[in-house]
Amino acid sequence: MDPLSRLTELFKQFPGIGPRQAKRFVYFLLTQNNFYRDNLTKLILDLKNSVAECATCHRFYIKDASKSSSCQICSDPHRDASQLLIVSRDVDFENIEKSRTYSGTYFILGGSVPILEKDPASKIRGDELLKLIEEKSATGLQEIILALNLTPEGENTEQYLISYLKPLTDTKNIKISTLGRGLSTGLELEYSDSETIKNALRNRH
Ligand SMILES: [Zn+2]
Repeated sequence: MDPLSRLTELFKQFPGIGPRQAKRFVYFLLTQNNFYRDNLTKLILDLKNSVAECATCHRFYIKDASKSSSCQICSDPHRDASQLLIVSRDVDFENIEKSRTYSGTYFILGGSVPILEKDPASKIRGDELLKLIEEKSATGLQEIILALNLTPEGENTEQYLISYLKPLTDTKNIKISTLGRGLSTGLELEYSDSETIKNALRNRH
């Protein structure tokens, strides 16, 4: 395969990008100057050095001088340790944090469970989540908030998680709550504005 086709193939693997858009990216790069291409290449190469996955909540964060294996939120003593909010992906986390309506801690599932999935455990970080809840139950965890998309796949993930977590949360006396639906069905956290997120969190049940 020639380099143009190989690059097109790589872009095709990006979320939501089809073959035609992938090809447009390649031609776009060809029309840019060397500075643009060098800058892009450098930033991609630097990702591994500048970004780490948090050992506690599993979100990606910008490394700082502290050399801590946990992100700035997990290491912040001012965050409310009684609440743990669970989201599918980093983009959901970012949008909730941006809404400034939540001051507890987070956990990134790393995916969601499609309907009729035969091996749901392989789609999310279930073991890591159980381990974290076990640890946090010793330091005052009282509530787990499932903040998943209000789509069929999000609701399927929610149902799976509730039955998966219940044996542990019942023993530890931890409440599981889910987002308030309000009028919005099909709501995706990634595309929700701060006001919608605030209402969904406030009306959780
Ligand atoms: Zn973290």
